[in-house]
Amino acid sequence: MRLIAAIFIALSIACNLAFELKDFTFGDHDYNSLLNVLNETNKKCPDVSRIYSLDEKTVEGRDLVVIEFTAEKPGTHLAGKPEFKYVGNMHGNEVVSREVLLALIAYLCQGYREQDPEVVWLMDNTRIHIMPSMNPDGWELANSRPRKNGQKPWLDGRANANEVDLNRNFPEVDKLEYKYEKLEGGLNNHIMSLSKALSKMNLAPETRAVIKWLYSIPFVLSSNLHGGDLVANYPYDESRDDRKTSQYSASPDDGLFRYLAKSYSKHHLTMSDPSRKPCDMSGDLELPEFKDGITNGAKWYSVAGGMQDFNYLATNCFETTLELGCNKFPYPEEEKNYWEENKAALLNYMFQVHIGIKGLIQSGGKRVGNATIKVMNMPSGSPIKHDVLSGKQGDYYRLLLDGDYKVRVVAEGFHPEERCITVANKQMQQAQVVNFDLTPSNKERTKGQTGCIPTKQLDLSSGTEQFLQDSLYDKLYGDYVYNTKDYQLYNYLQRILKSVTGN
Ligand SMILES: [Zn+2]
Repeated sequence: MRLIAAIFIALSIACNLAFELKDFTFGDHDYNSLLNVLNETNKKCPDVSRIYSLDEKTVEGRDLVVIEFTAEKPGTHLAGKPEFKYVGNMHGNEVVSREVLLALIAYLCQGYREQDPEVVWLMDNTRIHIMPSMNPDGWELANSRPRKNGQKPWLDGRANANEVDLNRNFPEVDKLEYKYEKLEGGLNNHIMSLSKALSKMNLAPETRAVIKWLYSIPFVLSSNLHGGDLVANYPYDESRDDRKTSQYSASPDDGLFRYLAKSYSKHHLTMSDPSRKPCDMSGDLELPEFKDGITNGAKWYSVAGGMQDFNYLATNCFETTLELGCNKFPYPEEEKNYWEENKAALLNYMFQVHIGIKGLIQSGGKRVGNATIKVMNMPSGSPIKHDVLSGKQGDYYRLLLDGDYKVRVVAEGFHPEERCITVANKQMQQAQVVNFDLTPSNKERTKGQTGCIPTKQLDLSSGTEQFLQDSLYDKLYGDYVYNTKDYQLYNYLQRILKSVTGN
């Protein structure tokens, strides 16, 4: 017994100790050396990696490059294998994220070659996408600026080359959702189609490229990495009350998002340490609410048009925003320290794409895409008012905390189905598989519903509900995003906010 226990403890420790990175040069990576890291990695790990660029280039014509890691068929979405992403350097002058993501890229390749159990497990069970810089043009500008007292200017290079702040440039979905949530049956997911999103005025090419990316790959979990403070930020980012610049704005997945944010902050060497010095830099707001190293976005300060909430409300992807340090552009020799502080957190966060449930929605062996997966807390039966949809291959992923739930699948043309489940998440364990075999609504249901008390059956075959949602959508969307005056006011307010906040 004792020996077995000792082996188990030794294994647990081995799994939790990130190994030392070899053959990686820390320091500032300009655009060409960033590309070199990706190309070298791809050469060393050709079977498990792939480099690709997004559909559009930056204002100055640079490619937005991504490296993907997965053990089986890079370049292909496989049903049952969740998609994860990290995006760094969206604000070009916030460079820590760019550097730690480049180190992570080298780390994943080295770990796979050396058969590190955590890395191998991640690659076997996940498709991981890493974009080290969403704003390479901004980086060039920021890098060209001289330091004063060790600091680069607070805002130079933050925006893209057309002075657009990319994290205020996404279609503003929060306000739409706040309207919907007051209505019975209002949309609570996928609230904007790709064409609607792309028709927003003044979209930067970088934003447009990312929007297309978000709709082309069924991402499940991601994080958007920033700098200028040290905290893990979770949805929503925009306050419900327009007059309030600071107001807690909980999403239906508030508990889950708090857990996700902590899964980063608690594994970071200092983020959740209550005794650490606050950043408190010029123009920065430091709030006592950073308990455990996390904050609700809108409680910190309200942001409209951010990437995080767009992911959550327009796609299936759950996204957080991580602030990796007080100094936005530290000296190159400090970057190894940032990697050491972040590496366990970066790894741990990726494992969270495997919590909850996943499965296939089928009917008589045919995959059913676009089915709605609804979840209720049990035994209370209270719904989590944020559904996810199955993808083209009929696969779905629903991140959930430990607990009892009822899962209900609704698809046009089929009888709804329900299951009662218990989620008990474990590290290095795939999400629990819960498959559904639906009966077409024009046939009599033959299978019983397992474990759940049957509830009133919805008949969606007439499409009435969708029709109502579409017309409602057009009405609301017209009011909120396309009104030119609103847009000008929004831009003006963003400018004020930018001068106050800056991360
Ligand atoms: Zn930022």
